[in-house]
Amino acid sequence: MPGMTITEKILAKHAKRDSVVPGENIWVDVDVLMTHDVCGPGTIGIFHKEFGRNAKVWDRNKVVIIPDHYIFTADEKCHRNIQILRDFVKEQDLPFYYDPEFVSMNPGKPNPYLDPTKTKYKGVCHKALPEEGHIRPGEIMLGTDSHTCTAGAFGMFATGVGNSDAAFTLGTGKTWLKVPPTMKFTFHGQIPPYLTAKDLILAVIGDISVSGATYKSMYFAGEGIGSLTLEDRMTLTNMAIEAGGKNGVCDVDEKTLNYVRARSRIKTWEVYTDDKNAAYDYEGDYDLSIMEPMVAKPHSPDNKDTAHNVRDVKLDQAYIGSCTGGKITDMIMAANILKGQQVKIPTYVVPGSTEVHADMKRFNLRGVLKGPNEKSVEDILSDAGCSMGASGCSACLGGPADTFGRLNRSEVCISTTNRNFPGRMGSMSAAVFLASPLTVAASALTGHITDPREFITSPIETGMAGVK
Ligand code: SF4
Repeated sequence: MPGMTITEKILAKHAKRDSVVPGENIWVDVDVLMTHDVCGPGTIGIFHKEFGRNAKVWDRNKVVIIPDHYIFTADEKCHRNIQILRDFVKEQDLPFYYDPEFVSMNPGKPNPYLDPTKTKYKGVCHKALPEEGHIRPGEIMLGTDSHTCTAGAFGMFATGVGNSDAAFTLGTGKTWLKVPPTMKFTFHGQIPPYLTAKDLILAVIGDISVSGATYKSMYFAGEGIGSLTLEDRMTLTNMAIEAGGKNGVCDVDEKTLNYVRARSRIKTWEVYTDDKNAAYDYEGDYDLSIMEPMVAKPHSPDNKDTAHNVRDVKLDQAYIGSCTGGKITDMIMAANILKGQQVKIPTYVVPGSTEVHADMKRFNLRGVLKGPNEKSVEDILSDAGCSMGASGCSACLGGPADTFGRLNRSEVCISTTNRNFPGRMGSMSAAVFLASPLTVAASALTGHITDPREFITSPIETGMAGVK
């Protein structure tokens, strides 16, 4: 009998079984259920309809609600959605709700928080979940967002579900899953200074296509993954869904454990590894020493090319943000390229979370606390001419017309986000190239797509950033 993978072991444990095999349908206990302002109201409505107006959620300590999508807008429907979340949190007495307290039911656009350290609001759910201690190896998390798979970087099983499935879990604490087969992607060597995980995942998706991992687990393995920061691993697992993956997962190492030990609200968890004789549905190998900075051309994440090959593409806008590319290490990468220079095209910067925003104010270019006369990451980006926004999903998902950084015309944009389907960042006639924060920053300086190797002379240190 073949051994089991990390994903199979986590699912077996939560099904109270010794083993499972791909293709089996199983009931599992869920450890965390997350929802946000877009899908939360629908989920709550189904929960009330199916379980009763006075029903209680299965475990108030396992429900996490993080408004993040449509926050800084005058759109009244968006404000109403947040109020539905507030009412539900009050009704259920939920402890883990991260309210944008500056959003009221009054007409008009809310003012952003003044100080990112003094707001309950957290920003993008996938970044906020580990920061606030809701993520642990070996657990199962469901979320009403397709990029819930991000948390697989911490060695857990995390996947997106629809509102009906989420409502069922709210009432029962369980879900019904088919065990996915596992695809193994092994990265050899150490990450070079001109690559980030974004380049790796764009290469993988380009190789297997946007349907290449449909309902499969994507396991990112090898010493190359060990050489990535924990935040960069989140970029890999975040984009598993762009290949159709059920989940993405990485091995747990000291980087993972240090982070989770410092943050987790629960002090025990289990670490799983693939058995030596685990069976894989597919195996791919990548040599980091010969990989190049990548882009995904419009209008699909699998439309891959090298940044060098598309260097003639002129750009109208650059965007650095989202759960994929708005982490503090992404900001430090971009700042190291932009330092002391001026962007040639409008460049929008959106911190992935309020913690990222706070770190941008306190860290220097090397990811350590800045001295009294040193510039912060935020200072450097701002001095380079970037427009600085408040934390949230912002234009990653287009959003209402008044959304910061939204593409409203036939513009060409290079972005650290994860999707470039027509209309994803706003206008249906805009064209979006996906790339790493290094490539986006280098391109912002020249106004055309630019291989970051033109600007990188030495490795970029990220110090304490994103470590604990
Ligand atoms: S930042 Fe973008 S991809 Fe991430 S959760 Fe928000 S809308 Fe989705």
